[in-house]
Amino acid sequence: MRYLVISDVHANLEALESVLKAAQGAFDRVLCCGDVVGYGANPNEVIDQLAAVQATVIRGNHDKAACGLDDADLFNDSARKAVLWTRGVLSAEHRAFLLNLPQGPRTSANRQFQLVHGSLLDEDEYLYDRGDAYDNLMSTSIPVTFFGHIHLPCLFSLNRRGKLSSQFSLEETLRYSLWISLEPGNRYLINPGSVGQPRDGDPRAAYAIFDSVTGAVMFERAEYDVIGAQEKMRKAKLPEFLIQRLAFGE
Ligand code: ZN
Repeated sequence: MRYLVISDVHANLEALESVLKAAQGAFDRVLCCGDVVGYGANPNEVIDQLAAVQATVIRGNHDKAACGLDDADLFNDSARKAVLWTRGVLSAEHRAFLLNLPQGPRTSANRQFQLVHGSLLDEDEYLYDRGDAYDNLMSTSIPVTFFGHIHLPCLFSLNRRGKLSSQFSLEETLRYSLWISLEPGNRYLINPGSVGQPRDGDPRAAYAIFDSVTGAVMFERAEYDVIGAQEKMRKAKLPEFLIQRLAFGE
C-alpha cells in the first residue's frame, strides 16, 4: 500500500489540489496529520476534497479552534483573526466534520505507523529538537510516527543502540524525490511538511509518499498557484501577513 502523507493544509485549496495532482497514481490512500483549516480562504472546499479522497485525518490545533472545541486565546493575532474568519464561513456540515476529527495518536490496524499532530506526548507540542524527538521515540513501539504542526519537512530516526539522527529541509540534509529506506528495528518520526503554508523558505507545497510494503518514504514538493491563493485571501480580508508569507514559504 502506498500512502500520500500530508499535513497543515490550512484551507489552501490551490496547494492541496496541486499535491493531489502531482501525486496522482503514486498513492492508494491519504493520511493527514491535522490543521485542515485556518489561515487560508477555502476551509469548506478543502474539507470536501479530503472527504472526496477518503483521507484519514486527525485534528490539529487550528481545527479545534475553528469548530469551537478550543478558544483561540493562545493564538497570535493573525492566526486568531483567521480562526474567527473561518468560524464565520464554515457550513454546519463542515464544522461537524472538524468536531468529529479524532485526536492523535491514531494507529494503523497493523500497528506499523501512527499519526499525531504535534507530538506523541502532546497534540499541541512543537516537535523541533532532538531531545524532544528522542523522548517521543522512546515512548512508542510503533515503527513510524507521522507528525505535523511545525510546517517543516524532516525525519528523525532512532536506531537499536539508541542513537538518534535527523534530517531537515531547512538544513538541506533532507533529499527530495528519492526513496529513503526505513531500517527494520529503527523507529522514525516523519514530518511531510506543510501543504498550505510551508515555513522552510520554499513556497512549494510539501508532501511525502510512504510505501508500507517496502518500508520507504519519499519527500516531495509541488508548485501551486500562490498568487491565486493570495488573491482569494485578500478578497476575504484575511490578515496581510498571512497572505505575504505564502510567497516566501516562511
Ligand atoms: Zn499548522
